[in-house]
Amino acid sequence: MKDLLHFDELLSDDEKLIRQTASDFIRDELEPYIEIWFANGEFPQHLVKKMAELGFLGISLPEEFGGSAASPLMYGLIMEQLEYGDSGIRSFASVQNSLVNYPIWKYGSDKQKKYWLPRLAAGEVIGCFGLTEADFGSNPAGMRTRAQEYANHYILNGSKMWITNGSIADIAIVWAKLDGELRAFLVPTDTPGFSAREIKDKWSLRASVTSELVFEGCQIPKENILALAKGLKAPLSCLTQARFGIAWGALGAAKACLNAALNYAATRIQFDKPIGAFQLSQEKLVEIYSRLIQGELAAWRVAKLKEGALFDHNQVSFIKRNNVELARETAKSARSILGANGISAEYPIMRHLMNLESVYTYEGTHEIHTLILGKYLTGESAF
Ligand SMILES: Cc1cc2nc3c(=O)[nH]c(=O)nc-3n(C[C@H](O)[C@H](O)[C@H](O)COP(=O)(O)OP(=O)(O)OC[C@H]3O[C@@H](n4cnc5c(N)ncnc54)[C@H](O)[C@@H]3O)c2cc1C
Repeated sequence: MKDLLHFDELLSDDEKLIRQTASDFIRDELEPYIEIWFANGEFPQHLVKKMAELGFLGISLPEEFGGSAASPLMYGLIMEQLEYGDSGIRSFASVQNSLVNYPIWKYGSDKQKKYWLPRLAAGEVIGCFGLTEADFGSNPAGMRTRAQEYANHYILNGSKMWITNGSIADIAIVWAKLDGELRAFLVPTDTPGFSAREIKDKWSLRASVTSELVFEGCQIPKENILALAKGLKAPLSCLTQARFGIAWGALGAAKACLNAALNYAATRIQFDKPIGAFQLSQEKLVEIYSRLIQGELAAWRVAKLKEGALFDHNQVSFIKRNNVELARETAKSARSILGANGISAEYPIMRHLMNLESVYTYEGTHEIHTLILGKYLTGESAF
């Protein structure tokens, strides 16, 4: 993709290097096989170790916990490149970094951090984040999963739905009500009473594991509560981290679609001309490109803000909403440029299009982010 606004001048050499490393990984290890994994509904779990070696599973963590202590911009650039490959591999990394490492780092005890974080960053342990329930998606505050306190332990009962990594996870961060307040528990997945069922019948994120989790009288040691996580603000703070990465990831999916469309438009001949020479094709390509480079600049700006005092979650809602929508529109428009070939697995566009339907819905649906921004603008809550 051409760099009209010289975006690369906004990146340091280290940032360019990390982006190139992620890009090479996707080109060599994912792109040749992803269509088959997607068709088979298979998550490439063998790539977890490799991602850990490249530092992609402890991106923002301090070095003392095995992390890379990388900046938000580096985090974003990695997510962009991973999703250039597939939203499934990016979802895996988003969950491990933002929804498992982050809550342990932010809300956990020193003992929990020392035990879990180096293992998560090394890919020895896979985590998942259980907030959503079958009847409580956009409104997690209504959740029914409950913890009850006893002298030496908690007992957990309930279930979670649509949980990324659920049935390959070693540890689940489970959000449950304890005396009416939302709390988080570290639940090893070999705990008696814990079960996970993979949701196989899905047409989106097929190269990602999505599961239902069930807790039937799970006995959780007292030391497994994330003591500082109290109330809905705690899971929402984790979602802010993940949504930031999603906003970057969506740019990657959009770039993959645009590149496929540009290549196709240059070589497909109709009426004795490449279809890229038709005004209607050019309009589509220009529209995609214009939105994409605007989305990229907005994501860059929020990455910079994220390092300082001016950062706030509304900025993340803005880029999640904006960039996922532009990626979804890009995929649709790019697909049409390829005509019938657009629906073929020979090209990545249809897979991205299907994936982006999940990305549009998870981590706060498009509509929920509209309400967040509506409240920011008007001061009125329309939830
Ligand atoms: C592939 C995949 C992976 C996921 N991974 C995870 C995970 O790892 N962990 C996790 O906890 N969850 C996960 N989720 C769940 C995801 O976050 C929820 O699906 C999402 O929050 C929406 O909830 P819902 O599907 O129940 O939709 P609902 O909340 O039922 O919403 C349905 C529709 O109603 C709209 N709506 C709801 N409330 C309002 C309102 N007040 N005003 C206007 N419109 C409204 C929504 O925008 C949507 O269009 C995942 C989902 C998918 C698809």
